[in-house]
Amino acid sequence: MNHVGTKEERKRVLGKVYLVGAGPGDPGLMTLKGKGLLECADVVVYDALVSPQILAMINPAADKIDAGKRMGRHSLLQEETTQLLIEKAQTEAIVVRLKGGDPFVFGRGGEEMEDLVGAGVSVEVVPGVTSGIAAPAYAGIPLTHRSYSSSVTFVTGHESAGKYRPAVNWSAIAHGSETIVIYMGVHNLPYIVEQLHLAGLSLETPVALVRWGTRPEQEELIGTLATIVDKIEKAKFLAPAIAVIGNVVNLHSILSGCRP
Ligand code: SAH
Repeated sequence: MNHVGTKEERKRVLGKVYLVGAGPGDPGLMTLKGKGLLECADVVVYDALVSPQILAMINPAADKIDAGKRMGRHSLLQEETTQLLIEKAQTEAIVVRLKGGDPFVFGRGGEEMEDLVGAGVSVEVVPGVTSGIAAPAYAGIPLTHRSYSSSVTFVTGHESAGKYRPAVNWSAIAHGSETIVIYMGVHNLPYIVEQLHLAGLSLETPVALVRWGTRPEQEELIGTLATIVDKIEKAKFLAPAIAVIGNVVNLHSILSGCRP
């Protein structure tokens, strides 16, 4: 934990940073609290996965900063983003840090909040609807169901370069719950499928991928541990997508027609 700054340091900071979850894309899934903050924000620093309809809710007079593409680079480094938020909080009253889905679910919200608190900045988190719940829901896949699953695990499929510690223990994940929801997993899926099978999951276990869930361009790919990797290649299926593994995926064939 970083130090929280002296009282004097903290007094100099005027504004407050709101870490707001933008939800998975459908603007109807934005919270009322988050929308209210966007409408009165002085500055909004947003990420690449935030949908255009949500960006359209931002106060037209606000300074809008794309943390995904600033200064002609691919993305701001985490430290640069935090530094920017600290600077803005010294001159502006309402600084919104807008993140796709929920800020505390694979969104680095925890790390950003730690650094801001360490610098003496007031911070409040406004949760959002996470894609790991919403994308399967829009595809007709309930994560729990009294006949198929009494537990869910949310896990990252992108664990390279020491990003997550400890690294994912796929064997424990395979046995830990009946439904497995994987974020950032498309690229690494061949390895994940192999690890889950080695850990004892049947090759018949159903798998669903939902890309751009809750958006008009939502796409789904349904298979099993045995078939999904081939299907991804054939369909040239790309990220961003949520993968769901478990028997609840079978409900897709019954429930997926109900979306408007
Ligand atoms: N904080 C976000 C997750 C950020 S990690 C949340 O709570 O949703 C980025 C990953 O989230 C993507 O690689 C993808 O796996 C998933 N993701 C985000 N938005 C998505 C969407 N609309 N549809 C499917 N997956 C999505």
